[in-house]
Parts: sequence; structure tokens; C-alpha cells
Amino acid sequence: MSSTLDREISRRRTFGIISHPDAGKTTLTEKLLLFGGAINLAGAVKSRKAERHATSDWMKVEQERGISVTTSVMKFTYRDYEVNLLDTPGHQDFSEDTYRVLTAVDSAVMVIDSAKGVETQTEKLMEVCRMRNTPLITFINKLDREGRSPLELLDEIEDKLQIECAPLSWPIGMGKRFRGVYNLYRKNLRLFTPGAETRDQQVITIDSLDDPQLDRLLGAQADDLREDLELLEGAASPFTYQQYLKASQTPVFFGSAINNFGVQEMLDTFVEMAPPPGPRQSETRVVTPNEEQFSGFVFKIQANMNPAHRDRIAFLRVCSGSFTKGMKVRHHRLNKDITLAGAIIFMAQDREHVEEAWPGDIIGLPNHGTIKIGDTFSTKEPLKFTGIPNFAPEHFRRVLLKNPLKLKQLQKGLVQLAEEGAIQVFRPLVGSDYVMGAVGVLQFEVTMARLKNEYGVDAIYEPVRFGAARWVDCPDKKKLARFEQANQHVLAYDAEGFLTYLAESEWMLRFFMEKWPDIEFRKTREIT
Ligand code: GDP
Repeated sequence: MSSTLDREISRRRTFGIISHPDAGKTTLTEKLLLFGGAINLAGAVKSRKAERHATSDWMKVEQERGISVTTSVMKFTYRDYEVNLLDTPGHQDFSEDTYRVLTAVDSAVMVIDSAKGVETQTEKLMEVCRMRNTPLITFINKLDREGRSPLELLDEIEDKLQIECAPLSWPIGMGKRFRGVYNLYRKNLRLFTPGAETRDQQVITIDSLDDPQLDRLLGAQADDLREDLELLEGAASPFTYQQYLKASQTPVFFGSAINNFGVQEMLDTFVEMAPPPGPRQSETRVVTPNEEQFSGFVFKIQANMNPAHRDRIAFLRVCSGSFTKGMKVRHHRLNKDITLAGAIIFMAQDREHVEEAWPGDIIGLPNHGTIKIGDTFSTKEPLKFTGIPNFAPEHFRRVLLKNPLKLKQLQKGLVQLAEEGAIQVFRPLVGSDYVMGAVGVLQFEVTMARLKNEYGVDAIYEPVRFGAARWVDCPDKKKLARFEQANQHVLAYDAEGFLTYLAESEWMLRFFMEKWPDIEFRKTREIT
């Protein structure tokens, strides 16, 4: 075991921010990057978004809709920690993508709007975190505005998200009366000055709540704070590190991202507390990060990040060992050695060639379609990391070509877009049409725009009678063949050749499952 490797692992934090749109994720991201020195101008994250919009064709869809579709990776250094922040699409139609991004993080930060509380997308993303028991820190945002009472918010989080809340800081007033936050564990006070970017906030140590400094600084609100904390003692759970790591408890902070208030406090706790890269399950065994052998998996493919030269970048999370520029690795799916020469790493505003990377780091591998989601690379042993699924689509459309001579390009485009995880593609056993499947309908629009721009294919889509899908299998291959023979008109192969049942409705699906009890109907399929 190398001590450099151990040290590099222990100082890495790889995380994602989850929130409902408008809660303040972009604003918080920007402030975090400011602390990391990764950007030096507020507004840079937003303007970077805008730049990408302006120059990339298919992202026009994104721009028109005012939503964020793409995922970016941002790396920054804070204190002695190397932080990798994986941005996730906020719009629910791209939740499949978000899920896969969350397979590559070790922990998450959840942002909640203090006026709106737990919203629908927060609930969905939380479900995803729960599937992998991802430790979660909560940041309740926009305290500079009138919002709901803090205790009520904690109750709602516990109730709707089924996770215990342990407040580590406590707000003093809100809106016009917002005076700051009191840190319950470090026992100090940060005062809020409206309108000021309080980056270098003064931190005042208050050892005891009886300290008369409190009254001097907060006036009548000092007694409100005392009352709140007394109440809290009986009502809230004390923070337990183990519970946080097990994801059964979330530490909670309060602040105002736009005023950069409470952000550094959260970031300090985050780097100290959030778990470093941990072990990962592969098909054959558990891989620990401090193994000498380099290994990693691809969780996302993104095309057209730089429209100046049409590129396709696979995002790989390093799981064990170290990466060095130009190293040779085995591409296990293709059974081929490849040299990772042009790997890049993403800083907030820049991308750079990677010289070395360690577990938890995300590196970008430019490629022309040889890499797909779920691919595992390692230096020696054949490995395949698990837990990167496709989800059964809920929406379906038939693709119609305007120019039949473009069939080849259409096929190529659909297969590649399916490999990127942008859409799922099915080829019914009967007939010659392609059926697209998506978890969110906006995926269809993005796919059409990309088919046109990148593959020169003018296609349209129309409704099709399907409403649910399940991957089917049966250990008894004779039974499976019989099933297939009897149901050709509702069966299809997906882009990877897996047999799929396309049902007209949920009701039909249930009926069918009862009718064929020996057949397995799967809602998710591991990417092969
Ligand atoms: P996202 O959709 O979650 O990325 O949210 P944004 O970061 O884009 O923020 C949504 C809106 O809320 C923007 O208009 C922000 O300026 C605003 N906002 C973010 N944080 C705060 C805050 O702390 N206080 C107030 N009053 N507004 C905020």
C-alpha cells in the first residue's frame, strides 16, 4: 500500500448538489467555487452556462426552456482538500442522467428553499440518494427572505424525506429580521449584514448562551435564540457522525447563498466530515480505493461540450490506484488495451490535460464512440463495476424519417445517443420502425435536435401506443422462447439487444405479469 495513495484518497471529496429547480443550487455552486479559488468572479458559473448555450446547437433546447440539462464536473482545492463537485441536471426529465451522476459521488449536499420547503424534485432525488445510502448535508437557503419556521422545515424534511435532521447551526430571525446563525457545535455566532457579501464574516465565539455579548449583539432577538435552542434540545436529535455516514441522519445548516452567508461554515464542515472515496462493488469482488491497480468506470457521456470541434467525452470516476498521463489500460468490454493520452480534468472555467488523478477524481476521456456508459477500465484484472442501471422508460414515441435515404444515419445516431444515455431505443420484433423510450419527454426533443445537428437526420416523432416497458428474462430458455413466440407484436430489442416487453398501459403490464408468472419483468437493467 502506498502512503501517497492513502494520503491522496483521504483528502478527496467527491459530491453532488441536489435540489428542486430555483432553490439556489447554481448560486451555492458559485460560492463554493469562489472559496475554492476556482473562480474569482461571482456570476462566472451562470455566464459559463450562457456561453455554452450560445455556442452549442442542441443546447438551444435547454436555452429555450430555461433549464439545465447538462452535467458538468468542477474540481477545486479548499484548505488541504481536493473537491470534485458533480453538477446534476435539475429538470426532472433528465433524472436518469442525474441518477447515474449520483452513482459517481461519495456524498451529497441538499439545498432547500426556506420558503418552499421540500419540493417534488427534492423528494425524487432523495429517493435516489437513499438507494445507495449516500450521506447528505442539508443547506436551508434564502434565510434573508421570509420563509417557514426552521422547526417546521426540519419536521417536513424528517416527514417527507424520512431522514433524521440534526441542526448544526441555527438561524436568528429571517427576512428583514435575519441577524445571522449560531453554530451549535463550534459555539460561535456569525452576524449577517444585509446586502453585503459577507465572505470574510466575523466569527464571534460565544461559550455560553448566558454570555451578555449575545444581548449586546442581538438585542431582543438574543432571548428568541435562547428559547429556540432550549426548544431544540428537546425536539431535535443530536448529531451523530455514524448516523450521517449511514445516511440515516442529515446535519442541517442555514444560510443565504446569494449573500454568501453560511456557505463557508457549511463547506468547512463538509470537507472535514464528508466521506473520502470508499470501496466499490464490481461483478467479481469489492474494489478498495487504495489498491495499487488503477480502475474506474464511466458514468456519463457528453457530446458537444466544445462545439468548435465536435467532441464526445466520457466521464470516468477513478475508483482505485492512480492515473498517470499516457497510461495503458484495458477496455474490458472491447477486450482491448487503450492508451489514455488525452484525458482531461475539468476546472470551473477550464479544462486541462491530466497529469495524474486519484480515487474520487473524475477524468474526461475524449472518444469517437468507443466508450459507453458503464464501461470499466483497469490496468490488469478484468473488472466490471455494478450499480449503473438503465431505467424502464415511461414515455414512448415512434421515429419517422422525412428522408428514407437517411436510414443508416438514423440508425447510427440512435445507437450512439442510446449509448450516451440520452434516450433509449427499441426495435420491435414486428415492423421496421424505431421506438424511442424516455423517462422524461424533453429527452425526445433533445434527441431530435441532436439527430439533425450531429447526424444530418431530419426526423420527427409521433405518439405510439405504449405506456410502460420491462426487460424480460427467464432462467428456463425454452419458456422464454415460448413467451417470445406468443408475444412478438409487443416485444422489442433495446439498443444492446435485450428483449423488452412494451405494454400499452400499466394495467396491461400487471395483467401480463400475472399471465406469465415464470417470466421475470425487470424495471431496471444493469448496463452491460
Ligand atoms: P437553481 O435553479 O437551484 O440553480 O437556483 P439558482 O441558484 O439559479 O437560484 C434561483 C433564484 O434564487 C435566483 O434568482 C437567485 O438569485 C435566487 N437566490 C439564490 N440564493 C438566494 C438567497 O440566498 N436569497 C435570495 N433572496 N435569493 C436567492
